[in-house]
Amino acid sequence: MPDFIRRGAARHMLISDGIRASAGRTPDRMALRESGRALSYARLVDRISRVANLVHAGLGLRHGERAAVFSANCLEYMEIVCGMAEAGVAAATIGPAAAPPEIRFICEDSGARVMFVSAALEEVARASAPSTVERFIVIGPAYEALLAEASSAPCPVEVTEHDIFSVPYTSGATGRPKGVQLSHRGRVLSGYAMAGEHRCYTPEDRAVATTPMFHGAGFLMALTPIWFGGQVEILPRFDIESLMGTITSFQATSAYIVPAHFAALFALPEAKRAQWDMRSMKAAISGTAPLPQATKERIVAYFGEGKLFERYGTTETSIATSLGPQDQLRKQACVGLPYPATQVKICDGDGNAVAQGEVGELWVSSPYMFSGYLNLPEATAAGTRGDWFVTGDLARQDEEGFVYLVDRKNDMVISGGENIYPREVEEVILAHPAAAECGVTGAPHPYFGEAVTAFVVLRPGMNVDAATLTALCREKLSRYKVPKEIRFVETLPRNSMGKVLRRELRARLIAEAK
Ligand code: AMP
Repeated sequence: MPDFIRRGAARHMLISDGIRASAGRTPDRMALRESGRALSYARLVDRISRVANLVHAGLGLRHGERAAVFSANCLEYMEIVCGMAEAGVAAATIGPAAAPPEIRFICEDSGARVMFVSAALEEVARASAPSTVERFIVIGPAYEALLAEASSAPCPVEVTEHDIFSVPYTSGATGRPKGVQLSHRGRVLSGYAMAGEHRCYTPEDRAVATTPMFHGAGFLMALTPIWFGGQVEILPRFDIESLMGTITSFQATSAYIVPAHFAALFALPEAKRAQWDMRSMKAAISGTAPLPQATKERIVAYFGEGKLFERYGTTETSIATSLGPQDQLRKQACVGLPYPATQVKICDGDGNAVAQGEVGELWVSSPYMFSGYLNLPEATAAGTRGDWFVTGDLARQDEEGFVYLVDRKNDMVISGGENIYPREVEEVILAHPAAAECGVTGAPHPYFGEAVTAFVVLRPGMNVDAATLTALCREKLSRYKVPKEIRFVETLPRNSMGKVLRRELRARLIAEAK
């Protein structure tokens, strides 16, 4: 047992401590698996220590520095981020779909002298030519040789829980991406809160991690289960059939399944869905994008009652609210109550709380919050008010304190002087069984300013025409909210977490109008 514990640091919570504690209890148990390769807890901790010593002694990176990690989800991702963290070096994580200018930007902004990169991405990494990076460490034989040489003793660097362990970059609705500094303390507390909330992290539990680990939420969903001695199957990329097949064969008890994944699931023929068995699941956890009410109802029918959790949060705040299974059907289009130790308030433009039930901007404060944007004190100041983070999301709260997300402030469409929240229109269209996905935005319009426009992806093998959807909208919505145009498309633009990029739809319409 003592072999697994970092020396002299029990006062501080580091992101790898829970893994070390699990290793002390069950060293030989499998912790992580990916594509048939597995790591026991003892081996995972051994490799975390080796990465820490490689980073500190071998590569000479100093406490407070950052190094880049550029890879799809893989078995090594966890040990690289945790090992760097034990050496006091934060991981500037780059999504596997990043284009060369983004790769270069993140490396240079974070001052990364080293990049850990998967073999598949090595070429694009080198071609992006970041001026700061002196060394590319390619995951595979070269990386293994370095680990074999590195010491497996605990790394001597003293790290505190206030140190930054990772810097994921938010895409940012406008302008350059921002590096969100996440501390050990915030992340550990957020994981503990999650365990209490979802009740699916014990040594007997098995989780599937399919969302990208370069994203704050994706990493936390792979990390939390192993703090509590559970087992995680990491999927290298999202594919609905392998996700559902893995849940079935691994008898998974939890998975983080974003709304785009659920959309993919329910676009499949029923006979296909019937081959998978969801009885082992305790928690199907959704987040990062709106989960339409019609989809929630399908989830409850398919996974069974008592399993769906929906969370709302941002990279900066971590999880801020959560809706438990008992309220999924009782509270429509709702993201639940504030997370443990979290405060929310709904404010007008001057920061005063609005009257209960009114729409305003959602502010969040909690111990899980970020430690500011990297190198951007003005952006940090603009996005925060004291201990509060100003989310940019419009919301309202009901008399029981439940939070309803109305929409992103920037995605609002203004047509004929009226404010229209795209999500409300999308919900109506998605209630039609033939509509698989929907994105609503505004097209430039000479008279109305903007004209509500809906992009719809049909469920395979099903059909509906624009007139029928328009009639449905007329029935459920005020006249000014009814789309002036409905377009059928093959796919919607989405980011790596599956969020529909309404701003790209809007840009498309602006370009057409020119
Ligand atoms: P990110 O920082 O990339 O995780 O994006 C945060 C944003 O995602 C929030 O400000 C919301 O607009 C959106 N979001 C996250 N969770 C939800 C949810 N459950 N429902 C609707 N939108 C969400």
